[in-house]
Amino acid sequence: MTAKPAAAAARATVYGYPRQGQHRELKKAVEGYWKGRVTADALLETAKDLRRSNWRQLADAGIHEVPTGDFSYYDHVLDTSVMVGAVPDRHRAAVAAGALDGYFAMARGTQDVAPLEMTKWFDTNYHYLVPELGPDTVFAADSGKQVGELAEALALGHTPRPVLVGPVTYLLLAKPAPGVAADFEPLTLLDRLLPVYAEVLGDLRAAGAEWVQLDEPALVQDRTPAELNAAERAYRVLGALADRPKLLVASYFDQLGEALPVLAKAPVDGLALDFTEAAAGNLDALAAVGGLPGKRLVAGVVNGRNVWINDYEKSLATLGTLLGLAGRVDVAASCSLLHVPLDAAAERDIDPQVLRWLAFAKQKTAEIATLARGLAQGTHTIAADLAANRADLASRAGSAITHDPAVRDRAAAVTDAAGRRAAPYAERAAAQRAHLGLPLLPTTTIGSFPQTAELRTARAELRAGRIDTAGYEERIRNEIRDVLAFQEKAGIDVLVHGEPERNDMVQYFAEQLVGYLATQHGWVQSYGTRYVRPPVLAGDISRPEPMTVRWTRYAQSLTDRPVKGMLTGPVTMLAWSFVRDDQPLGDTARQVALALRDEVGDLEAAGASVIQVDEPALRETLPLRAAGRAAYLAWATEAFRLTTGGVRDRTQIHTHMCYAEFGDIVQAIDDLDADVISLEAARSHMQVARELAAHGYPREAGPGVYDIHSPRVPSAEEAASLLRKGLDAIPAERLWVNPDCGLKTRGWPETRTSLENLVAAARTVRAELPSS
Ligand code: GLN
Ligand code: ZN
Repeated sequence: MTAKPAAAAARATVYGYPRQGQHRELKKAVEGYWKGRVTADALLETAKDLRRSNWRQLADAGIHEVPTGDFSYYDHVLDTSVMVGAVPDRHRAAVAAGALDGYFAMARGTQDVAPLEMTKWFDTNYHYLVPELGPDTVFAADSGKQVGELAEALALGHTPRPVLVGPVTYLLLAKPAPGVAADFEPLTLLDRLLPVYAEVLGDLRAAGAEWVQLDEPALVQDRTPAELNAAERAYRVLGALADRPKLLVASYFDQLGEALPVLAKAPVDGLALDFTEAAAGNLDALAAVGGLPGKRLVAGVVNGRNVWINDYEKSLATLGTLLGLAGRVDVAASCSLLHVPLDAAAERDIDPQVLRWLAFAKQKTAEIATLARGLAQGTHTIAADLAANRADLASRAGSAITHDPAVRDRAAAVTDAAGRRAAPYAERAAAQRAHLGLPLLPTTTIGSFPQTAELRTARAELRAGRIDTAGYEERIRNEIRDVLAFQEKAGIDVLVHGEPERNDMVQYFAEQLVGYLATQHGWVQSYGTRYVRPPVLAGDISRPEPMTVRWTRYAQSLTDRPVKGMLTGPVTMLAWSFVRDDQPLGDTARQVALALRDEVGDLEAAGASVIQVDEPALRETLPLRAAGRAAYLAWATEAFRLTTGGVRDRTQIHTHMCYAEFGDIVQAIDDLDADVISLEAARSHMQVARELAAHGYPREAGPGVYDIHSPRVPSAEEAASLLRKGLDAIPAERLWVNPDCGLKTRGWPETRTSLENLVAAARTVRAELPSS
């Protein structure tokens, strides 16, 4: 294929880069500052060094235009709140006393004031701080951070492009401040917000910005006509400003849909669109509106949120098509590279052949630069890169890692019957009742008990070779013994082993499944200074041997009460990993489900009569646009049922979900055909119980009566009153008593008292039941 010379101006750019540094320097500096071990000046200096080295890396890789303002001490949406002066009243004193401490007070709260709420950034695993707005919000421009970072980059000789959260997305991500009516719509503040953006844009122009990027990912979601009108108005107003920088409006994570014609017509100078598979519709939609004649199109052809190398020929074909649709076409990642780890070359434990399939942020910038060169100067100038890329893709496609015939044959032979329990729910429930002999309102926990410092030390010592496997396992057995003894004494009905052997609910299984890779340095920001290292689901998945059975069996040997087997479900295994992009997600989920199905079978054979398959990510993985949801729920449900469908009637399957808002997926939850579900409910005062009831949910459920997100101990009376609320929605025969989620982040003292209170509450409310 040949690219036309018309692309001579094609440039390489990105929207954002990992903030943490190669050795997570930012995390260390910020946490050090919180603890008083690092001065404010030292923190600022570390941040400046990181920005400088990021821009250096980008420029060295051949990126022509570097982002500024994407850096953050905590979160870029919080930075935007500061930029527009949207500081909640309760944080004003802290901000007045000192900008940096005030900023961290909004992020983390203080002894006296609660922080801003945190929630997921679209369908990524990054979390932002939710702006709190109300009819009385007064915006005021503070362009200091944006202008400062722009000036730094200019002084270093770069061509910077400030990146801002766009005004429409900012308002759509906001929620009513405490005390403001719940139906208040922040978008009604648009006309008040636009002058503030105008002022910031003016400041950036004055400071030397030629282009400014306004990110509007909220426009890839289903939007009402009123919201689309707001977007139209926002860019009509900003576009009409005198003496403004050129405006690039960016979207990512999905296609723009109805918002595309709106933005294409807007008087801005360019659009950035996602052209990866997730947003496949953008290409046709752009052609349908007649392209962007005379404007700049930034083409996100390199996937910014997954870790696989790009397919150069495919990208060049897309770019070639786009050349005919815009005045100028530039090359970029589909979204900020914030969502991928920094550098694949730092990985020493991954087979060098497999490493060639992986591209983290640093590798992606090189891909973008190569594609831009190919587009600008003709593909003959990147012939060697093309050949190497073709060879790497072929090696991946032909590898035994990605194609295990045994796994494929088994997945191909799966029938609907495999996902169907032998008897319908009502019959099973009777068999389980007879087999388990539990009281009404049975008590249980969600799985994990406190991950103590001793447990983490034991794991570190094992890794460092200071203790051997036998020594480590001895400590795990001791812990299980303690956890079991406590639960028996507290009078809990269905026990757990406490998951002391698990570092993380996904990683623990990924480490034991063939087809998964672990990284050593693949850190990705989850929120603030919290970074996670998602495993890479690289190939066909199989389970060489049982993963959890001996711990569950050991725990069961210590008690006559039932001990729950405890597994992470297939949807969550995918959602919290980097997943392969060379086959449909549903195919990958089916392979994981078959491996887990074998584990479920082994647990049952080892005597487990209750097995829990956690799916906390089921809700959050729901596609951004409603049009994609049915297909997602179909494969997600199939995978869960395949995992659990092979057990006997009397074996009780539990599932667990958290992170609220289940109202719109109750049917999907019912379709899982689990026998019991536990859900987060304490903070919403059992809202979810009422939602289940409203949908006629027929199964057993345990809406949480103990909020595990804080060290606060609920009194027995408080738990009992939540339980009574639960009884208003769900009959006693089907109601369980449990905390909201696992206890791994809690300490022992509060856990002990809280669970004792939970058991006391169950006893009190049982005694109030008519039958007693
Ligand atoms: N079983 C897991 C635990 O208790 C569930 C965790 C979760 O829902 N995130 O830790
Ligand atoms: Zn949970």
